[in-house]
Amino acid sequence: MGTEGAEPRKTRAEIEKAGVEIMVVVAIIGLLMRVATVGISHAIEASRLRVCLLNMEAIDSAKSLWGLENKKGDNDAPTEDDLKPRLKDKTFPSCPKGGTDAVNALSMHAACSVHPASATPGATLATTQ
Ligand SMILES: [Zn+2]
Repeated sequence: MGTEGAEPRKTRAEIEKAGVEIMVVVAIIGLLMRVATVGISHAIEASRLRVCLLNMEAIDSAKSLWGLENKKGDNDAPTEDDLKPRLKDKTFPSCPKGGTDAVNALSMHAACSVHPASATPGATLATTQ
C-alpha cells in the first residue's frame, strides 16, 4: 500500500476558495430559478386573461345568434340558459380565475368581474400580448 495516486491534502486556502465557488454557483442557480418562476407566473396570468377574453368573445357571438334568431333588440339580454345551446359543448364558460360573467344586453359586451379588460370595447387577444 503506497501513497502513489493519493491526492495531497488541500490547504485551508484551497478549501475556502472551493467554498466561495460553491456559494457563487448556488447564488447563480437561485437567481436563474427566480427569473424562471417570475416568467412562468406571468405567462400563467396572461393565459388566464386570454381564456377569459375568448370566453367573452364566445358569449358575445352566442348573444348575436340569439338576438338574430329571436328578433331581439339592443336592450334585450339573454339568460345563460338562452346561450348554452349556442356555446361549445352547450355549457356556459367559466372564468379561469373564478370571476362572474355578466352576459349584459345585446348592445353591450359580456364582462367578467375579475378581468375588467374583457368588457372594454375593442379588447382582443392582440391587446393582451
Ligand atoms: Zn375572467
